[in-house]
Amino acid sequence: MFKILIATHNSHKAVELEHFLQSDKVELKTFSDIGYDDDVVEDGKTFEENALIKARVAAKLGYIGIADDSGLCVDCLDGEPGVYSARYAGEPCDDEKNNDKLLDRMNDIADSERTAKFVSVIACVTPDGTEFCCRGECPGIILRERRGNGGFGYDPLFLYQELNKTFAEMNSEEKNSVSHRARAMQLFAKEFSRRILKC
Ligand code: IMP
Repeated sequence: MFKILIATHNSHKAVELEHFLQSDKVELKTFSDIGYDDDVVEDGKTFEENALIKARVAAKLGYIGIADDSGLCVDCLDGEPGVYSARYAGEPCDDEKNNDKLLDRMNDIADSERTAKFVSVIACVTPDGTEFCCRGECPGIILRERRGNGGFGYDPLFLYQELNKTFAEMNSEEKNSVSHRARAMQLFAKEFSRRILKC
């Protein structure tokens, strides 16, 4: 059995990963499951660095550590909010304020310049020091006002052009078929099978 520790307190992430890994050779736990409560300082400059920082903490505890980090990168803002997506408008995380700040920063930006992408990186670190990351991206456009009531974070401002819907207007099936997170998960599941499960 491969013992995996996901560096999160969010049990939903364990369920999601289990679904993608589809292996009876893995046993997944979260930080909450093992009673790990220390704060992990995510001070990396990239999604990869932050995901690795968290996965290394889990690996140090003797498990195969897995962690993710994600966010929104807006081209005309040189990739902002990037790794600061959750706390763009300050701490604690406030989606409404983050969206307001983004709209404010992009007030004078022409429609043709409003391109952006969501990025999700999943990292794996083993106790013997093997490390790898997988990245998923989803391209879109930042609207001038919110559309839709679903989702979280920047979903209401992020238009996925192919479906002409914001992430907040998609049901979970639609979002899961195109999202950065789903793409990263698919790549990660393949890489994990090849490098760790060896199948
Ligand atoms: P996390 O690394 O998954 O916790 O994501 C960090 C932040 O990025 C979130 O708090 C959101 O602001 C933003 N974000 C990441 N993924 C999404 C998404 O699918 N929709 C909207 N916002 C997202």
